[in-house]
Amino acid sequence: MYSPRSMKATEFIDDAEVQATIAYAAAHAKDKALIQEILQEAKKNRGLNHRQASVLLACELEEENAQIFALAEQMKIDFYGNRIVLFAPLYLSNYCINRCVYCPYHGQNKQMPRKKLSQGEIAEEVLALQDMGHKRLAIEAGEDPVNNPIEYILESINTIYQIKHKHGSIRRVNVNIAATTVENYRALKNAAIGTYILFQETYQKDNYESLHPAGPKHDYAYHTEAMDRAMEGGIDDVGLGVLFGLASYRYEFAALLMHAEHLEAVFNVGPHTISFPRIKPAQDIDPNVFDNGINDEIFAKIIACVRLAAPYTGMIISTRESQACREKVLRYGISQISGGSRTSVGGYTTEEREHDSEQFEVSDQRSLDEVVRWLLQLGYIPSFCTACYRQGRTGDRFMALCKSQQILNCCHPNALLTLKEFLEDYASPATKEVGEKILAEQLKLITQPKVLDITQRELKQIVHGERDFYF
Ligand code: SF4
Ligand code: SF4
Repeated sequence: MYSPRSMKATEFIDDAEVQATIAYAAAHAKDKALIQEILQEAKKNRGLNHRQASVLLACELEEENAQIFALAEQMKIDFYGNRIVLFAPLYLSNYCINRCVYCPYHGQNKQMPRKKLSQGEIAEEVLALQDMGHKRLAIEAGEDPVNNPIEYILESINTIYQIKHKHGSIRRVNVNIAATTVENYRALKNAAIGTYILFQETYQKDNYESLHPAGPKHDYAYHTEAMDRAMEGGIDDVGLGVLFGLASYRYEFAALLMHAEHLEAVFNVGPHTISFPRIKPAQDIDPNVFDNGINDEIFAKIIACVRLAAPYTGMIISTRESQACREKVLRYGISQISGGSRTSVGGYTTEEREHDSEQFEVSDQRSLDEVVRWLLQLGYIPSFCTACYRQGRTGDRFMALCKSQQILNCCHPNALLTLKEFLEDYASPATKEVGEKILAEQLKLITQPKVLDITQRELKQIVHGERDFYF
């Protein structure tokens, strides 16, 4: 039976409740009065429940759909302003004992060249990432207790944080590794990680089990309850996501929001981020064999509706998506993107992309400098901010600031300060030119005199070689 407070996966993601939600949404897809009522609720900036949001996702009324997109755009500005936070994935190891049928790293793929970075190789990758200008990484590794034990992950995190090169440093390491124990989550917390990210892939249990035919990941409950164990281990910033294309998007959408509601109900903290990956081609993987693919229009609608349902949650899109698609969905709620990414193990220290060992094909292959310039030209502030967890603004502290829309008072000046660092240290002349112009314009938007004063002073200090200022 459906219970958001239950600690059992099949009760907080109750299949009957998801099916009933989809049927309810379909029955009200043209119900103007109800849709308007839900839109009024969304305007209060307190979010929507999975049923309300599913009705908006199903909405077939043109005028109301335009209102959904417009409201998502407005809400993003209200909560986060126009900053977009940048990060890069760092693949540590592609050894994996799981059999996920959509991932080329699955253990049965004998053609995949297997590689695990040594600490020295990690240092080289980090130097390359720092030289691009990155400050925030998401580390990735397959599940393999022999090759990638937790000790290896912890040692790697320590290596990454230790490397300081010219003005470079990685200030936040987010971690995307397999579901694990409370004890291991506690160790990750003690290693000063930012967010723990784990994609559910699909919430539909039968589908989940057939897509993960063997290996520890086959256990639906253990995987779906992982965020509860992470919270118990002290990690209060967790990142959710599904791999769109594996199952019906309406199912995934409702279940994803139910998962967020469960975290809120039990821990009083919703997900810190939600990621939006779509299945992509890779070695041994043809996305066309999955018949639940979604087009760009539906993808954008999902993003807009999640923004309305969870206005306080960061939303992430990766270089899996093309420049055109990223440009479109940035408007509707995306607050973080990756840039200059390589999705193979050791990919940042090789000249050419190693397509045979990528986890997925990268659609947006531009350099970080090009991505930064593109964001500036679109009117966004590319941000390398990592302030919150370093200031202890995590979990419910972060959520309280975000829900009251005060986080913007930190995000905006921090975006300007970290952009200035990028312009001084890494930008091409063309990026620097447009960046300085936007910086001067955006400085005027800081309304609190004291914050403006400090920001102006610190911007000058950055020119004189000082680094790492934040609110
Ligand atoms: Fe392994 Fe993760 Fe790929 Fe599954 S998705 S095969 S767990 S690397
Ligand atoms: Fe993210 Fe916090 Fe920085 Fe805002 S201030 S960009 S929420 S780390």
